[in-house]
Order: sequence, then C-alpha cells, then structure tokens
Amino acid sequence: MWEYAPAPESRDIANLKPSYKMFVDGKFVEGAGEPLKTINPATEEVLAEVSTAAPSDVDNAVKAARRAYDRVWGKMPGSERAKYIFRIARAVQERSRELAVLESLDNGKPIKEARDADIPTAAAHFFYHAGWADKLSYAGYGPSPKPLGVAGQVIPWNFPLMMAAWKIAPALACGNTVVLKPAETTPLTALVLAEIIQQADLPPGVVNILPGAGDVGKTLVEHPDLNKVAFTGSTEVGKSIQRSLAGTGRKLTLELGGKAANIVFDDAPIDQAVEGIVNGIFFNQGHVCCAGSRLLVQESVADELLEKLHIRVSSLRVGDPLDKNTDVGAINSGEQLTRIQELAEAGDAEGAERWTSSCPLPDKGFYFAPTVFSNVSQAMRIAREEIFGPVLSVLTFRTPDEAVAKANNTPYGLSAGIWTEKGSRILWAANKMRAGVVWANTFNRFDPTAPFGGYQESGFGREGGRTGLEAYLDV
Ligand code: NDP
Repeated sequence: MWEYAPAPESRDIANLKPSYKMFVDGKFVEGAGEPLKTINPATEEVLAEVSTAAPSDVDNAVKAARRAYDRVWGKMPGSERAKYIFRIARAVQERSRELAVLESLDNGKPIKEARDADIPTAAAHFFYHAGWADKLSYAGYGPSPKPLGVAGQVIPWNFPLMMAAWKIAPALACGNTVVLKPAETTPLTALVLAEIIQQADLPPGVVNILPGAGDVGKTLVEHPDLNKVAFTGSTEVGKSIQRSLAGTGRKLTLELGGKAANIVFDDAPIDQAVEGIVNGIFFNQGHVCCAGSRLLVQESVADELLEKLHIRVSSLRVGDPLDKNTDVGAINSGEQLTRIQELAEAGDAEGAERWTSSCPLPDKGFYFAPTVFSNVSQAMRIAREEIFGPVLSVLTFRTPDEAVAKANNTPYGLSAGIWTEKGSRILWAANKMRAGVVWANTFNRFDPTAPFGGYQESGFGREGGRTGLEAYLDV
C-alpha cells in the first residue's frame, strides 16, 4: 500500500454565507421559526445559521404555491415550462463545483461522490424532466393529462440536492407547484437551488423552500390545501404521514427504508462482485436507502470472497470529505452515528463476527470505520433493521431457492443485486425478487429514465422515468 498525498478541494469554492433565509413566493425571507445552525459533520464546526419556518410560514408558502398554480404555472403550455426547467438544469451544471463542495461540507460525503454522482444526477433529472414537459400527451396517460395542483415535499439528508431534484423536476414538468422541506442537517444546497430558481426567473411561488425540523415537515404534509404529498425518509415517519393523510383523497408517494440483498452466486466474477459489494454498502457512508446492506453469498465461494472483501475494504481511505482521495467521509450527524454504533453492538451481542477496517479515523467529527459482520443469521437485528451506515451483514446460502427466500425475507423491498455469469439465472432470480429495483452484475446505478421505488415497507409510487410522471398527474 502506498501513501496518498493530500488532495484537498478548496472550501472557498462553496461560497459559504454566514446565514441563509427561506425561499417563499420568489423571495428570500426570514422565517418566524427558531434559526438552526447547520454543522460540518467532518469537523463539528458551525457552517451557517439558517432561518426556519413556523406554521404561519408554511401557510404562506402553500398560499404562494396555490396562487402561482392558479394564475400562471398550471395554465402555462408545457413547451414554456420546459424552458424554465432547462434553465435550472443548465445553472445546476454551471454551478456544479460550488454545489459539490457545499454538499460535501454540509453532509460529510466525499467530494468525489458529490462531484461525480450527486450533482450530475440532480442536473440530469432537471434535463430529463424538461424534455417531458411538452410531451405529456404522448406519455400514455391520455390525450391531455392534467397536473394535480400544489405538492408538499419532504426530503432526507443523505442526498440533499439530488433528492430535491427528484422531487421538484417531475412536479414542475407536469405543471404542479411545490413547497419543499429539506432535512434539518442539510439545508444548504436546497437554498442555493432556490437562488438558481430565482435566477432562472421562475414565476414567484412556483417553488418554495422551507428549512426546519420534523415539525415543519409535519405541518407541511398535513396542510389542507395540498393536492399531493411526496416523502422520502424513514419508514416510521412515512407510516405516520400515511395515517394522517388517510381519507383526505390527497395523492401520496412514499420512498422509505430498505435492507437490500446483494446475492453472489458461485459462478460470479468474484473480483467484480467485490467492487460491487463495496460500492453497494460503502458509497455515501452507507447512508443509502437502496444500499446493499445484506450480502448473500453462496457457501462454496464465501471464504474466498470474504478474504478478498477484507483486503479491498482495508484499502478504503476514510477521512476528510473534501480530500479528493477520500472514499468514505463523515457520518451525517452525531445522532446517526449513535444509531449505527448501537446496531453494531447488537450484532456483537447476538453473536455475529465483527471485522473492522484498521484505517485511522480523524479525532474530530463523526466517523465510523467500514465494518463487515460475518456469521450473520436472519433473525439478528443487523440482518433485519436498516443500519444506514458503513456496516455490511454477510449471510450464506447453498441453493438459488434459498438465496431468493432469504433475500425476500424482509419487511422492506427497495432494491436487490444479483451477481452471476448466467443470464438465465439473472432473469430467474430478478423475477422472483420482491424489490422495486434489481441490479445485475452492478449496483447503485441511478438514471432519471429508470423508475425507482419500493415494495412493502419501502413505500409506494415510483420516481423517475415515464412511470414517475404518474405521481404528479391527475390520472
Ligand atoms: P426522518 O424520516 O425523520 O427524516 C426525513 C425527513 O422527514 C426530514 O426532512 C425530516 O426532518 C422530516 N420529518 C421528520 N419527522 C417528520 C414528520 N413527522 N412529518 C413530516 N416530516 C418529518 O429520518 P431521520 O433523518 O430521522 O433518519 C432516521 C432513519 O431513517 C435513518 O437511520 C435511516 O434508517 C432512515 N432513513 C431513510 C432514508 C431513505 O432514503 N429511505 C433517508 C433518511 C433516513 P428533520 O431533518 O428535521 O428530522
């Protein structure tokens, strides 16, 4: 192993401001809520103070979105809406370096991931949906599908800008207006997106962005003048939203947790599979709803695979997210770190075998070394619960039927991975998998043209692709 020289990206590129305001009706305004301090999880320093919404601000934002829908956006031809959405996409690209550094600072993710995955995927979602805006009549939802109205959207902290794009782009393309609440720990890139939206000259009120904690999200999703609610986050909060919306007739999509199985058959190209496993669970510190957090490996190749996996994981560089060589950055919050530590301890207590990379960890900030548990049985908490951190649980199987049975033995159903040389086995296994997305000989591939969403406790509704438009149309 060789030493890497430090390769830090400059934090000045982020254009960090000491304070940020909410975005309502086309203007940046102070919210009446208690301002929050957003921190850099890699160093625990305060990055900026952010204005938050009180219930009256939520009401004002929904009213602004309603006005914009009734007077302008809902009536605008798709070909005109498309121009605005293209402009947003272009500006996201133009400011991509700034956005990547800001995302890395606020979230803790490695700069190379923010730069190569989050920001380009966010731009791609705006480009893709701009293309749909004038073609909705050909989408298979009738000759002239209508928008729903005002959408309330709540997003999590794991892919802050990307989640904002996944929510806002399809809503606008279909002619809806939006009130969006970013996560409490990662509000900054959504507020730069608000600047971009202002620069793109979007009519006031079409997009409103309200930072704040869970109570702001709750007030928003329960607002009586919404036509649609879209939520990404924990299954627990998703269930409570579903309960509160029951009987209101409002359209709802939920993208919740996951405990994906990544299945490696004995004929799989092992070295390639190891790369896919590492990407599946250590990408974004494992803060990924579709993470391949359960590795199911055929018994005959388990020893070989585990040995190679340990060697590969030992080479992951953990540390400063702004260093371009960093593979695994900081855990997003102290709270999330505690949750990961508790679940890992449960793994020890229940008899799984813990292996941890011996990489050095920074003294300050929230870090958790990449960890692999082997000898895991299906009943253990680390095989059932979403850890949402850099922790992999390894189980074995003997026959393909056993692999499928174990993969489907979960209350979730968001994604799955299959590693085998045989195309027939891929099709056979994918057909039996109760998961919204199944990757074959790859993992964590995202594309705006491909629908993404879950089964069972992973939620319902799809985001992306033609299917994703349905969530924002009155069909
Ligand atoms: P939450 O579900 O609490 O947060 C997601 C978003 O919902 C945030 O914007 C949050 O605000 C907001 N929110 C919280 N409570 C409510 C409510 N009652 N009504 C409406 N909105 C609300 O996830 P956590 O951040 O607490 O993470 C907990 C666990 O959830 C993780 O460990 C992970 O297992 C899972 N998770 C899954 C995600 C996924 O993509 N599937 C994403 C994030 C978490 P605020 O930020 O202020 O809390």
